[in-house]
Amino acid sequence: MKRINLKRKLISFAAILIASNSSIFAQTTEVKNIILIIGDGMGLSQVYAAMVANKQALNLEKATFFGFSKTWSASDYTTDSGAGATAISTGQKTYNGAIAVDTNKKPLTTIMEYASHKGLATGAVVTINLANATPAAFFTHNEYRYNYNDITNNYLTAKFDILIGGGAYRFDSLKVSTTLKNRGCQVIYSPDSINLGVKGPILCLADSDDLPRVLDGRGNYLEKSVDIALNKLVQNKKGFFLMIEGSQIDLGGHDQNIDYIVTEVIDLDKAIGKAFSFADKNPGTLVIITADHETGGLALIDGDIKKGESVAAFAAAHHTGVMVPVYTYGTGAQEFSKIMQNTELFEKMMKALKLGN
Ligand SMILES: [Zn+2]
Repeated sequence: MKRINLKRKLISFAAILIASNSSIFAQTTEVKNIILIIGDGMGLSQVYAAMVANKQALNLEKATFFGFSKTWSASDYTTDSGAGATAISTGQKTYNGAIAVDTNKKPLTTIMEYASHKGLATGAVVTINLANATPAAFFTHNEYRYNYNDITNNYLTAKFDILIGGGAYRFDSLKVSTTLKNRGCQVIYSPDSINLGVKGPILCLADSDDLPRVLDGRGNYLEKSVDIALNKLVQNKKGFFLMIEGSQIDLGGHDQNIDYIVTEVIDLDKAIGKAFSFADKNPGTLVIITADHETGGLALIDGDIKKGESVAAFAAAHHTGVMVPVYTYGTGAQEFSKIMQNTELFEKMMKALKLGN
């Protein structure tokens, strides 16, 4: 008797498990929100040095699927940030220096444009000025990444719900901020001043140019801004696309400064923690973490695990051509578990959000 009862109990327990699992499955098969996190110049060594320095597991280590992205551009073995971001934002490999234009300098529709066309909210949070290559390639189009004034002006025709980054000097001197304000955009100069109770787009210019380094006291700007951006974007019932960039990991690579790199990766990891907990609370959220390229040819040739130290050797003071990792979490994460071209990231994100058709 006892055995039968136990069996029955087990069967009914299993039935409950299947039922509850399948209901979760039904709720979470559709991707509604994408949080794309780009560590500029963040190769495997940059991440590992941060893991060692952090002493406890990074949030990134909770990612559930892993892939690799081939970053070469249409013009070069090593991509720059313009072509690298364009590949991810438009699905096209282009020449180094391009900002969401093809090899003939013709504008390419970005995933932000596809998303806002379908009624999704869009936004970005970066630690550099908003005219810089990565954010620019998601919201603007230009034949040359260093046309900063043109790119800043191009934000006048960009559709966005929230942008948080640097660049106040250009936005103000070119009167782009005034024009946007006159159109009903909330233009402010500190994430702390953002009023989420007011409807309409938000432009937060948190520094006159690039934000300071973490080493120079940037504090919790990124983590806090990601929280604010998520609270804004989640108000859109149709879903959203948020791009977060740890912009200065790349600058640490160019400077061949391991402390600069490690502090910037750990800072980005706090934003990753925010994105993962948002995904836990909001089924239908896909989080993708990757890089546009590796910077510095960083090798970790020795170190001390207990002290959290890595001995760094740099093969280059610029970008390298090595594949970069792709880490995913949340709904649809399994689709990215392969070796792919950087342009496939675009294709997979488009497919996940059912955009472009
Ligand atoms: Zn880059």
